[in-house]
Amino acid sequence: MSGSPQLEDVSCPLGCPRDNEIVITGRDLLHDLPGEFTVVKCRACGLMRTTPRPTPETIGFYYPDDYGPYLGTQVWQVEHTSRIRALLKPLVKRVFNFNTQRLPPLAPGRMLEVGCASGAFLHRMASQGWQVQGIEFSEKAAQAAAQLGYRVHAGPLETAPPPDEPFDLIVGWMVLEHLHDPIGGLQKLREWAKPGAWLVLSVPNSASLEFRLFKNKLYALHLPNHLYHFTPETLGRVLQVGGWTLKKVHHQRVLSNLIASTGYVLRDKGYARLGQKFIEFPGRAGIWNYALYPLAWIFSVFGQTGRMTVWARVSE
Ligand SMILES: [Zn+2]
Repeated sequence: MSGSPQLEDVSCPLGCPRDNEIVITGRDLLHDLPGEFTVVKCRACGLMRTTPRPTPETIGFYYPDDYGPYLGTQVWQVEHTSRIRALLKPLVKRVFNFNTQRLPPLAPGRMLEVGCASGAFLHRMASQGWQVQGIEFSEKAAQAAAQLGYRVHAGPLETAPPPDEPFDLIVGWMVLEHLHDPIGGLQKLREWAKPGAWLVLSVPNSASLEFRLFKNKLYALHLPNHLYHFTPETLGRVLQVGGWTLKKVHHQRVLSNLIASTGYVLRDKGYARLGQKFIEFPGRAGIWNYALYPLAWIFSVFGQTGRMTVWARVSE
C-alpha cells in the first residue's frame, strides 16, 4: 500500500453534542509512518478519541508485518521458554502479580480472545482445560494461531460470525483502544456471552501520571493505532452502553511503558542509541520487571501506571 491512508472525522461515540477540547497532537513514533493526528476530549463525557483517524479500510497501513504484538506471541517463543519457567512459575506467581492478564477465579469453560495475535494466550488457556476460540485482524498472526489447532476468525471483530455456543469468558488484551467502533464491538460480544459471563480487557490508562507527563511522547499513546484513550471512568461508561457492567479495575504493576516513553524523550533530545534501548524495553524487560516491581506496585496503588486490566460482567 502506498500514499497516505484515507482519514475520517468522528464524533463522540456516546452521542454527546460536538464539543471537543484538543488534548494532544502527535505522530506514529513506533514505525515513523507519515501523518499527524490529534487526540480530542469530549467536553460532555470526558472520553478521548483520535480524530481524524485512518478509516477501517486503510488503517492496515499502520500495522506493518513487524508490528510488535504479532511477533511477541509466536509459538516457538512459548515453547522455548516454557520448560525453564515451568519449574519456577508457581512460586514466582505467588510473589509477583503484575495484573497484566489477571482473570477472575473461574472454572474452565468456553473462552473467546479478541485480538489473539499468534495464539500464545489461547494456547495457555487451552492447556488449563478451556475451550478456546480467537479473532485476529492480522491474517498472518491468525494463521499462526490456527496452526496450533484453534478456531480463529481472521479479520476484524465486525466481520466475525456468531459462535455456535455462547462464551463464559471473553478477553481482549490491549485491543479495545484499537477498535473503530468499540461500543458496537462490546454489544456484539454481549450477544455472544452467557448470562453472568465475564469480559476481561486491558487498555492503556489515560488518567495516569505518564499520560500527563509525556503527552505526545507517551509510548502508550500509539498514534494513530489507538483510536480511543480510556480512563477508568470513561471506560466504565463505554462498557455500560455496550451492555457490560464494570466490576473491578486492576492497575498493572509494570513500568515498562514509562521507560519506553522516556526513550522517546531521549531520542528527541538527540540521544538516539540510548533512547532506542529504552524504547525497546517493553519487549525485553524480562528480569527488570521483577526488579521494578516494588516501585510499580506503589504507582499502581495510586492508579498511576500506564495500563489497567478491567473485569466487567454482562449487565442484567
Ligand atoms: Zn462524549
